Amino acid sequence: MENLTAKELSEKLLYKKQSAFERFERSELENADAYAKDYAVYLDSSKTEREAVEYTVDMLGAYGFKPYTLGADVYPGDRFYTVNRNKSLIAFVIGARGVADGFRILAAHIDSPRLDLKQHPIYEDNGVCYAKTHYYGGIRKYQWATIRLALHGVVTLKGGENITVTVGEDEGDPVFCISDLLPHLAKDQNAKTLGAAFTGEGLNVILCASPFTEDGRPAEVDDKVKLNLLSTLYDKYGITESDLMSAELCFVPAGRTVDVGFDRTLIGGYGHDDKVCAYTELTAMLENLDGENSIMCVFADKEETGSDGPTGMQGRLMIDIMDEVARATGCDPIAVRAASKCLSADVAAAFDPCYPDVYEKANSALLSCGVAVAKYTGSGGKYSTNDCPAEFVGEVRDVLDAAGVLWQTAELGKVDAGGGGTVAKYISRYNIDTLDIGVPVISMHAPFEIVSKYDVYSAHKAFSAFCKG
Ligand code: MN
Ligand code: MN
Repeated sequence: MENLTAKELSEKLLYKKQSAFERFERSELENADAYAKDYAVYLDSSKTEREAVEYTVDMLGAYGFKPYTLGADVYPGDRFYTVNRNKSLIAFVIGARGVADGFRILAAHIDSPRLDLKQHPIYEDNGVCYAKTHYYGGIRKYQWATIRLALHGVVTLKGGENITVTVGEDEGDPVFCISDLLPHLAKDQNAKTLGAAFTGEGLNVILCASPFTEDGRPAEVDDKVKLNLLSTLYDKYGITESDLMSAELCFVPAGRTVDVGFDRTLIGGYGHDDKVCAYTELTAMLENLDGENSIMCVFADKEETGSDGPTGMQGRLMIDIMDEVARATGCDPIAVRAASKCLSADVAAAFDPCYPDVYEKANSALLSCGVAVAKYTGSGGKYSTNDCPAEFVGEVRDVLDAAGVLWQTAELGKVDAGGGGTVAKYISRYNIDTLDIGVPVISMHAPFEIVSKYDVYSAHKAFSAFCKG
């Protein structure tokens, strides 16, 4: 040590976060750029968890994955997937070594904050027909007024047939919208707090603004605008108002994913949280189909509302599948779980220079500084967190470094500023080593979220290294 200069010593001892611009070769920057284009197609095709499942099934099919039934025979090299109630998906490949050494599990969620329609959504007021909504997940309500909204979802008819609805995405489609006050009349609203100025019951979406007509004249009935809307819906989809009681329809931001900024480093779009982690995991698994390790991808629903229900990560399906595969290959399910390892991938809050007060910069993820590892999440005194043991953090750190992955650590923000959790704790409770990791996001949960292409690409590389490691 005494032979080193201070500069040499500081290089040896001090941690210095690096950015992709310092670390990536030109070819890697180009790879990240190309990868981002494919990701954008996935994101635009996956605005709801159902759409993400459909898109993923198509991709898996192209790689020879087959539907799996619980209890089926399983052999090394097999590629299977299970779709759970059209809303979540588990895919796995059995490696050359089988499952005695456990699965490498990659988990993410494919639901995103949005505005669901209520079960009796449609009402008419002063010549305009609206949809009542019930927001899904943590939204900042003011962000959803005066933006273009698209309608996505399914309506289950009597007898079970599903009608798929998508309006507002194609060229020439109409879009939908929630109105807001003009500034000239917003004096009272402006005096309210941000949280109080916009209410859940105020998030009503314009659907129709003209009456049903008979002989070219407005019909002589009550609620003629609502009748006009229902008549349009019946002509187009064959649905009636009562069919909406068994529907899952939602409004999401309309439009496509786009590059942000002159240099095109950043990608703006709806639902990066957490489709950016789902896609990077999926492509990592598809890159490692013929390896030694068995790999499982879990794309969960309901994370944004607490992971409850049969399609959420608190459901048992992932464990049931692991147990059944273990039995089918002559392994002890408990031992297979104990030998398994998981990266629980969910987006991190990227440090936002416009709001420095809520972040503690040294422990925040920075844009374009790589995929972000979070030893713990939670809130306050680390409540409701997985808090991964140092040993497994160390193991993953070695895997990432050996593969040359650009990575950093992340906390959500200042200790007392708020907090949030992930699905990690619902996996680690089964005696599976689990670490939180994900892509840093600016404006998380907003209708238009921003990530860096280089962080997206780093996430993909991290997951791929984990599949091999
Ligand atoms: Mn998330
Ligand atoms: Mn979220």
